[in-house]
Amino acid sequence: MTAEPVIDKQHTPAAALPATVRASLSPSRAADFKTCPLLYRFRSIDRLPERTTVEQARGTLVHAVLERLFDLPATDRTPDAAGDLVAPQWDRLVTEQPELADLFDAGDEAGSAEFLRSATALLAGYFAVEDPRRLEPAERESLISAVVDDELLIRGYLDRLDVAPDGALRVVDYKTGGAPREAFEARALFQLKFYALVLWRTRGVVPRVLRLLYLRDAEVCDYSPDAEELLRFERTVVALWQAIEQATERQDFRPRPSRLCDWCSHQAHCPTFGGTPPPFPPRSATADPLRDARSRPAAPGADE
Ligand code: SF4
Repeated sequence: MTAEPVIDKQHTPAAALPATVRASLSPSRAADFKTCPLLYRFRSIDRLPERTTVEQARGTLVHAVLERLFDLPATDRTPDAAGDLVAPQWDRLVTEQPELADLFDAGDEAGSAEFLRSATALLAGYFAVEDPRRLEPAERESLISAVVDDELLIRGYLDRLDVAPDGALRVVDYKTGGAPREAFEARALFQLKFYALVLWRTRGVVPRVLRLLYLRDAEVCDYSPDAEELLRFERTVVALWQAIEQATERQDFRPRPSRLCDWCSHQAHCPTFGGTPPPFPPRSATADPLRDARSRPAAPGADE
């Protein structure tokens, strides 16, 4: 198995990819398939719309505030300064994604004020576990990618990458969701290992720490992978991709019910809940395995 480094801070035009690359996979979509193949189908093949929930919007907002916070001089990165960023960042997000304004009824000032207050409360959870005045992240909201097994482009957005003076890497992911942590922890760790694999393959360094920051609980979960584990993980990712290809070929994506069904937007189409999936899209609509390489993967915070 070989890997070819492709560092990409913005976007890899498909034309710039090595000619051997046949498909792309993001950690979110890989985790979807691993969680429930039918969920992967609904999201990546049928592309069924999913209405942004208040919780997802709050996650996107908090990620945006934390990203901007590090633009300030280190000494200014205080809870008050973060609080001052909340409303302007929300205004910016609504300008960029006008559908977010639909989360609240017109004139529901109390609802939107409560929403902004709840985002500020999550930021308090952040300050309880980290002091951003003592940090200088190397990268924030960075799109990273690598080619594995010569044929598969894997890529995704890091929330934050810290680099120690000795070169050690720490990947940091902010978790803002209100769902019980244990329901999503395996998925979160899977995504972090995905980033660790990309970094290892592109920089030759196994990240020393993969860190999940749970803002609601003000808790830190650290994990330290090793090269052998990442090698096994790489095989898992390639096997997942092959399983996705096979399922697509057979048009066979089965539901895998779990606790995560409670947060699934597609119960109405899922046989587990008495629903019927839509007809499988025509082959022409699914025949471009590099389609995801040409579109922007989910931004940080949008997929919690
Ligand atoms: S409801 Fe559950 S089983 Fe059905 S598609 Fe969603 S995650 Fe899968």
